[in-house]
Amino acid sequence: MQTRIYADHAATTALSPAARDAMEPFLQVAYGNPSTLYNLAREPRKAIVHSREIIAAAIHADPSEIFFTSGGTEADNWAIKGTAFCHAPGKGIITSAIEHHAVLNSSVALDRMGYPVTTLPVDTEGVVNPAVLKAALTPETVLATVMLASNEIGTIEPISELASAAHEKGVLFHTDAVQAVGHIPVDVNALGVEMLSASAHKFNGPKGVGFLYVRTGTPLIPLMDGGGQEHGMRSGTENVAGVVGMASALQEHLDRLEQEASYLQGLADILIAQLRQNRFDFRMNGSNNRIPGSLSLSFKGADGEMLLHRLDLMGTAVATGSACNSKENELSHVIKAIQVPEDYANGTIRITLGMDNTKDQMYAIADQIHKIIGVQS
Ligand code: PLP
Repeated sequence: MQTRIYADHAATTALSPAARDAMEPFLQVAYGNPSTLYNLAREPRKAIVHSREIIAAAIHADPSEIFFTSGGTEADNWAIKGTAFCHAPGKGIITSAIEHHAVLNSSVALDRMGYPVTTLPVDTEGVVNPAVLKAALTPETVLATVMLASNEIGTIEPISELASAAHEKGVLFHTDAVQAVGHIPVDVNALGVEMLSASAHKFNGPKGVGFLYVRTGTPLIPLMDGGGQEHGMRSGTENVAGVVGMASALQEHLDRLEQEASYLQGLADILIAQLRQNRFDFRMNGSNNRIPGSLSLSFKGADGEMLLHRLDLMGTAVATGSACNSKENELSHVIKAIQVPEDYANGTIRITLGMDNTKDQMYAIADQIHKIIGVQS
């Protein structure tokens, strides 16, 4: 029987059994609405308080600075639009060319509403240069938003330098940390950001839940008006089980952060060594300062989409560019932005590993690629 290999952990991850166990009581037993006054609400309310403490500690924030959302997309939309809407149109924001579409399309929407958007280029490793940000800041800029780690090429951005450059001109800084939280150490004070987005399903939590960190005193307009939950900043009945599952999964990742990093690095090294041994003509995209186990590989003369489908037929799940973007047939905006040479660009696949992957699977993936595209040089 063919064994399945899941190598697309940047797209999503399986719910951890411990997180599932932690969630269970809040689905059918302690299901009270946390905003109500009777006894059935006590446990869910306590669970939300406790989860907020765990999540705040994980990123070195205060619990009052954590606002639960429906995921990374909502957190990004809120940080960007909620900051801009504190000002009249004419004020603008700055972002980078390699952001996730949750950021890019929030920016496009703002631009249409009269808040001009400047998009910064990146270098060939996908890094945003703080000097380039500095030069782009104008008296009209109210926010700069650059992701902490790329979902497509894994590059980790110099966020503390970028945030300092923004602050020198009194500009607020947001980072989309959806691919980073739970995978590398994240400290909002070391990063110096005013806002940070995260999403539970990227670290073995449930889908449809995430959070926005908002530093105390940061001006931000709520996008969800209603019953005044989350201190009036994000109305809507709390996703209690989701929030509990997110906190549990995040704590589990934090407890094994270093172990996970070295295990995933080891697996990635095996795969790369194997591909080199098979004499493929390929390039690794992104910087060496990257999310562990995140590989963007461009095979010369190959067709990335064909590779994805053939690997899928062999039982292996990988991505071409970003999963959230997989309906687009054209070349990923990130691969374009880092200027991968044309004869390699079309042959790009993303392999993102997780703790459920094994060494044997790395040999199997290399072997499958060999069967599909053969020896190249
Ligand atoms: N930002 C980044 C960098 C992502 O990788 C993703 C998901 O792929 C998102 C935002 C969107 O997060 P969510 O799926 O929770 O809406």
